[in-house]
Amino acid sequence: MTPRRVPERMCALCRARAPKREFVRVVWDGAAVSLDPSGTTAGRGAYVGTWRSCWADPGLVPKLERALKAKFGAADAARLRARALELEDDGVACPRRAALTTRAER
Ligand SMILES: [Zn+2]
Repeated sequence: MTPRRVPERMCALCRARAPKREFVRVVWDGAAVSLDPSGTTAGRGAYVGTWRSCWADPGLVPKLERALKAKFGAADAARLRARALELEDDGVACPRRAALTTRAER
């Protein structure tokens, strides 16, 4: 039997790889940035882990701007940074969490 492949994504901030469900897609439509939980909104997208450590990354805005070839306005940048506060602090840095996820099958 072939094991079912889990689609993976890579975090635009910490470069950790993990199953797609561990990420939220961030979309730049050319004028504004938005979160795209459905993963279907048109525009240039990047994936960010659902871990607080990703969103709390000091490089959050510049790294996402680079990934999306975008220039965020102040409101967009503030909204992205505020996202970290909405996430539970699990005390685990994103790359480590991803390593734990990959090792869980052993
Ligand atoms: Zn991350």
